[in-house]
Amino acid sequence: MKLKKALLIVDVQNDFCPGGALAVPNGGKIIPFLNKYVKIFSAEKLPIFFSRDWHPKKTKHFKEFGGIWPKHCAQDSKGAMFHPNLRIPKQAIILSKGMDPQKDSYSVFQAVDHFGMEFLNLLKIFGIVELFVGGLTTDYCVKWSVFDALKKGLKVKLLIDAVKGVNIKPEDSKTALEEMIIRGVKTITFKEISKLMA
Ligand SMILES: [Zn+2]
Repeated sequence: MKLKKALLIVDVQNDFCPGGALAVPNGGKIIPFLNKYVKIFSAEKLPIFFSRDWHPKKTKHFKEFGGIWPKHCAQDSKGAMFHPNLRIPKQAIILSKGMDPQKDSYSVFQAVDHFGMEFLNLLKIFGIVELFVGGLTTDYCVKWSVFDALKKGLKVKLLIDAVKGVNIKPEDSKTALEEMIIRGVKTITFKEISKLMA
């Protein structure tokens, strides 16, 4: 099978963008960049995955039930919808995670598509060997997804102009980025990728 690249856009949902329940500072600013990446991967007919946090109303993930987070991305709520400015092509695959009320499920490798198929299996079916990752947030769902991707033997490129962190502690995103790079992640900008794909 031909070795392939895929794009993974993590959790660009209303609740993580300004005005949302768990807004990431400047979270909305990455959307125009993400849209440009989507355009390139679409043109190359490469798979594009969009993950979403998709929580039940009661979950240990929320402060109210013992977790660390305010309520966010409850299934079918407005906050759980993808940001309206995000370009989602028809062929994109939506991955949902966080449905288990006992777990946090930060990594997209704990997500499934509409048919219940796990992300890793989808990657195998498509013959994906390299994942390009952007979205929210650098210090949680992006980071844990990237760590899992590396563990599964995938190459990872982080879209450095299209990720943002929540920064509960001010240095969290910086530390997360360093941890990813130490483990073998390469960063890439839109300028560089357009040359790579040309
Ligand atoms: Zn969540």
